[in-house]
Amino acid sequence: MYVPVALVTIATRFWVMHMRKCLIAGNWKLNGDHALCDQFASTVFPTDSSFDIVICPPATLLQSMQQLIKKHSSCLRLGGQDVSVESQGAFTGEISAKMLHEAGAQYGIIGHSERRAYFAETNEKVAIKMAQLLAANVSPIVCVGESRAARDQQQTLAVIEAQLSPIKAVLQQQALSCSQIVIGYEPLWAVGSDQPASPEQAQQVHQFIRESMADVPDAEALRIIYGGSVTADNSAALLAMPDIDGALVGGAALNIDSFLGLLPVV
Ligand code: PEP
Repeated sequence: MYVPVALVTIATRFWVMHMRKCLIAGNWKLNGDHALCDQFASTVFPTDSSFDIVICPPATLLQSMQQLIKKHSSCLRLGGQDVSVESQGAFTGEISAKMLHEAGAQYGIIGHSERRAYFAETNEKVAIKMAQLLAANVSPIVCVGESRAARDQQQTLAVIEAQLSPIKAVLQQQALSCSQIVIGYEPLWAVGSDQPASPEQAQQVHQFIRESMADVPDAEALRIIYGGSVTADNSAALLAMPDIDGALVGGAALNIDSFLGLLPVV
């Protein structure tokens, strides 16, 4: 079949090059309201098949966002920003993986650097959260990343390996597949700093993560996304890297125009 070159879109080229579907996830953190949900859900995004777009609003907005997505037949998918290590019981304030799933979340961010720094989230806890999400049919977006000090001391890969180690152990022990999970590489010094990693810096760590995960079932299907000051100005160069399968976006996901601007071109 003849396909005019002009119709081979950048997004399609991404898919052919990477063999993994691109994932762009917006993390709203402690921001957003019903009006922002409505704005995102009523926007017609450039594609609903060549890449996945996930929005992670605060937990209280998940259900209304889910209803708005249905109302507007939006291609958006939903994600939670965290999950409990517990599945039920006397744990005031916690939200279980099953609850996230019931609220419409298909993804759940875990191990974000802010949760690690302010809420004592250890590598081991992150692995338990991953198992909880997988058991509830929610795909974990597992964040890893090194501090500026660790990078300066050439400890980046050692930090990443320590963060991945319990994750790999759970996946291997429970014979779980890499196709269900996403790793988010988010260097702490790049998050919210307007100082993104260069495409080459990010690619080096993504390649390391891919090699480190090679023994886990379906390793070739593992999506590794980059986060840290992604904007319209740098997303194309980052996404062009062979081991960068998408982006995790904070600040630029709070505004519909800046978010649209960083999506792969179709
Ligand atoms: C984040 O917090 O996950 C993030 C990537 O934030 P920002 O895009 O603002 O750097």
